[in-house]
Amino acid sequence: MKLAIASGKGGTGKTTVAVSLALSLAAAAVPPLFLDCDVEEPNAALFLHPDIVEQRAVGLLNPAVDMARCTACGRCAEICRYHAVAVIGKQVLVFPELCHGCGSCTRQCPEGAIHEKLNVMGTLERGVAGTVLFFQGTVNVGVAMAVPVIRQLKQWALPPESGDWPVILDAPPGASCPVVETMRGADAVMLVTEPTPFGLHDLRVAVQVARDELGLPVAVVVNRDGVGDEGVDTYCAAEGLPILLRIPLERAIAEGIANGASLIAIRPEYQARFVALWEHIEGMATGA
Ligand code: SF4
Ligand code: SF4
Repeated sequence: MKLAIASGKGGTGKTTVAVSLALSLAAAAVPPLFLDCDVEEPNAALFLHPDIVEQRAVGLLNPAVDMARCTACGRCAEICRYHAVAVIGKQVLVFPELCHGCGSCTRQCPEGAIHEKLNVMGTLERGVAGTVLFFQGTVNVGVAMAVPVIRQLKQWALPPESGDWPVILDAPPGASCPVVETMRGADAVMLVTEPTPFGLHDLRVAVQVARDELGLPVAVVVNRDGVGDEGVDTYCAAEGLPILLRIPLERAIAEGIANGASLIAIRPEYQARFVALWEHIEGMATGA
């Protein structure tokens, strides 16, 4: 099963849950692949402490024009649906920040004047953390496109032959394109929230994306249980969303996590709860 772990907003404890689930499965002899898809601010490595064994640059192929061959016919500008190339007089201007690397302009140039060059946008890394196979992507500072980095991270970590490995995808916060890209192809989504009005608002948005738009089974983890009100419980009951785990607001947990410890290192009894949670969601995903 591929499980995406997301939250409508940052700071809900999503990575804490994702890391604790990975460590719990590993301890139960079901080691997962862990993908940190929060490429603008990956931090799972702070808890998993992987040994990185491979790094690679990642980016998009942008057009580069050989002006000696270009006749300024304008075909490349016409074909680009992202307005990433413009022909002004005899000049061809390429805007890499708009280019999606689709290659259409290269293929359509009648003079063969365009070749492609890699526009490096970030880094992918592979490592091991005990028996957990760890992958993370990091987008370069100033690069606004997280989606291509997430897509290439998933393609690298999850080739078709990767089979039935348990996979945990730690999504970015929010509910925008990078989150959708992380959830795409997952079998189920676990949303981490906190029982406050803000948590409820963002949970609703995340449910819209995961369940209503992508059609994925969704379960909920409530973090900092006891801090707010009953709104999240009432909403989940009305929507038929199972709350599979509650993590209480406790000083010892908060301090341990702030010091880089995983939840199951702080509270070992949670290991069995995370394994049970995984099995429950697997049943939801397969209809068992
Ligand atoms: S399609 Fe090719 S020849 Fe035409 S303007 Fe673009 S680069 Fe130049
Ligand atoms: S590669 Fe695609 S998106 Fe980029 S400039 Fe060419 S047509 Fe536009």
